[in-house]
Amino acid sequence: MQAPQPVDLRLDPAWIIPVRPEGLVLTDHALIVSGARILDILPCTEADSHYAPTQHRRLPDHALIPGLVNLHTHAAMTLLRGYADDRPLMTWLNDYIWPAERKWVSAEFVLDGTRLACLEMLKGGVTCFNDMYFFPEAGVQAATEAQQRIVAGIIVIDFASNYAADPDGYLQKGLALRDAMRHHPLVSFCMAPHAPYSVGDRSLEKVLTYAKQLDLPIHIHVHETEDEIRGSLEQHGVRPLARLHGLGMLGPDFIAVHAVHLEPAEMALMAEHGCHVAHCPTSNLKLASGIAPTEALLAGGINVGLGTDGPASNNRLDLWQEMRLAALLAKGYTTRPEVVPAQTALRMVTLDGARALGLEERIGTLEIGKEADMVAVDLSAAHAQPCYDPVSQLVYCADAADVTHVWVAGREVVCERQCQTLEAAQVLARARHWRDRLARS
Ligand SMILES: [Zn+2]
Repeated sequence: MQAPQPVDLRLDPAWIIPVRPEGLVLTDHALIVSGARILDILPCTEADSHYAPTQHRRLPDHALIPGLVNLHTHAAMTLLRGYADDRPLMTWLNDYIWPAERKWVSAEFVLDGTRLACLEMLKGGVTCFNDMYFFPEAGVQAATEAQQRIVAGIIVIDFASNYAADPDGYLQKGLALRDAMRHHPLVSFCMAPHAPYSVGDRSLEKVLTYAKQLDLPIHIHVHETEDEIRGSLEQHGVRPLARLHGLGMLGPDFIAVHAVHLEPAEMALMAEHGCHVAHCPTSNLKLASGIAPTEALLAGGINVGLGTDGPASNNRLDLWQEMRLAALLAKGYTTRPEVVPAQTALRMVTLDGARALGLEERIGTLEIGKEADMVAVDLSAAHAQPCYDPVSQLVYCADAADVTHVWVAGREVVCERQCQTLEAAQVLARARHWRDRLARS
């Protein structure tokens, strides 16, 4: 008989929920990690003779699931969390958020804000986030310090900021960052033109050219509010999605953030082009933008992932809330309780997010050969007992505080609810420092 193979980690959770194949829940199974990857998933009775792990962790009350993917956020806006609540989108942006950003946003602000975001997200099981913000180099720095996977947006917006003077400046800086960091194992990039109302045709054409040349996804806010659509009809004579389509932007690399207000023909167009949607249910409710037609999007074959949006319009970076809300809103919106069942909601927050970002082959499920982005969730709390169906429990009962352990590419970044990669006290002290500065102004 062969000696057991030395490996880095063996996990024995109560349930392994790989997400693919859909519906599979494994009990009495172990997951084996070697380096950054999942080496094996096998019955516990066989694991002893096959593998000699350096670390063996038993998780008797836990579900083990793939790391959660936040498909849309502006991480550094943690520092503007609660700064201007209870206002409509354009008032919120024009009168509060954009003036505050003009005054305060710097590389230091983004570094501190993103560190706070990474701390919150990692502790809540978010192992990958798709970010759109100024000074993305500072966002990338924070995420790599935290050992968290980031898809850094190459942001483009037509107005000047402390980061760049004009659209070409934004592009140059973002592309230089991409050149410098493109081989980092936890960093990838997407083009991130802000929105159809804040980026002109000339800039959008350049974004599209670079996206094609570099094979990057495009990530843009679109059809968020009725006002946005009215404005586009007045200025361009067409609705925003039609304008983007006219520029040749729709395709399998296109991620429509929000997609709240859509006509049936627009959904058919998005399906035909293989577009993805980043559904941000809390943000849409908080800014009173509306409710996205999730069930119709899914029924039309459109891939829908979930995002928190920025912490100034949510105000959490908690995908457990988004997952639960996405499932509940779809039921209320259609008056059909069977739509967006728990399995679908869990897939949206893992595999479907990864798919939208072009990372489906690397993350999003617990499968042999994939990178070990994993989350252990303790389902023994009163609010999750008794447990008949762990998937149902994850979607309708669990929250971020039930996450006990998190791994990114095989590295344990949260252990017993404590972040191992960021100094929490320091991160929180910097948040209070910025609160004092902004509150005085
Ligand atoms: Zn957003």
